[in-house]
Amino acid sequence: MSYRPKALREIVGHTGAVRLLARLVDHDHLPHALILEGPVGCGRRTLALALATALLCPQRQAGDACGSCAHCVQAHAGNHPDLSELPGRREAPSGLPVDEARAVAEGASSSPLLGVAKAIIIPDAERLRGASANALLKILEEPPPRTTLILTAASAAGLLGTIRSRAQVFRLQALSEAENERVLGLRGALSRERLAVPPFASLDRVLAGFDLAAVAEVVATLPSKAADDDGDEARTPAAVQRACLRLWLVALNDRVRGGLRSPDPRSAGRALDQLERLHRALADLDRNHPPRLVLEALALGK
Ligand SMILES: [Zn+2]
Repeated sequence: MSYRPKALREIVGHTGAVRLLARLVDHDHLPHALILEGPVGCGRRTLALALATALLCPQRQAGDACGSCAHCVQAHAGNHPDLSELPGRREAPSGLPVDEARAVAEGASSSPLLGVAKAIIIPDAERLRGASANALLKILEEPPPRTTLILTAASAAGLLGTIRSRAQVFRLQALSEAENERVLGLRGALSRERLAVPPFASLDRVLAGFDLAAVAEVVATLPSKAADDDGDEARTPAAVQRACLRLWLVALNDRVRGGLRSPDPRSAGRALDQLERLHRALADLDRNHPPRLVLEALALGK
């Protein structure tokens, strides 16, 4: 099941931006066009959807969607008639379809069908060029009443100047590893069986040291991509793997910790050494080191 948020309050991370956006919605001060700018995988499109839902909900409170009215349910299901979403890079890898951009631009000039507001989401807006840019430029220049355009981009600087100058930029930061894990958990993006049973036999050999074959085994067991991760910009395989490896190392850490209580001082000393190495490996993951390098450093005792 893909993960679509029902409300801004469900967004993982981006606390400051979420609070600001909710306040602007609440006071009716949201700009008619905005750019959610942030690194791939930080949840730009997820935030765009939650923001659009807040705009469409007639029963919103404190600038956020109620999450349960007919508008919220339809927006959540992806079939609200006043919410248009252009395909992202994943659904349309060869570029933003011009005919869809034109259809959205034309639809924007009519009144909201359900009477509250209209929202248009344009993911990966760096792709707006030529005819697709021209189609949408018209609604940026003369925004129809009660219509909000929400663009997402890795960098607003990558957008055409004519588009960037008509929209307000909201900067989003990359999610922390812990936030990434929460998102992955919410999406069920990593298969539960895999997470529940780390490859302890191989991990033990990595921890025993100097066993690069064991490193390869662990790397091969990591998910090659999120199993079901649609609805948002691609979460990079490396981020998924780091999140998965982090969970395994934490589980390994819990196992090794039992060794500290060993009556044999040599066993206890070994457990302490292993815990220190695991601690460094987790810190390396926090610094976004690739899983293979983290495991190699763990095996080599660096
Ligand atoms: Zn609602």
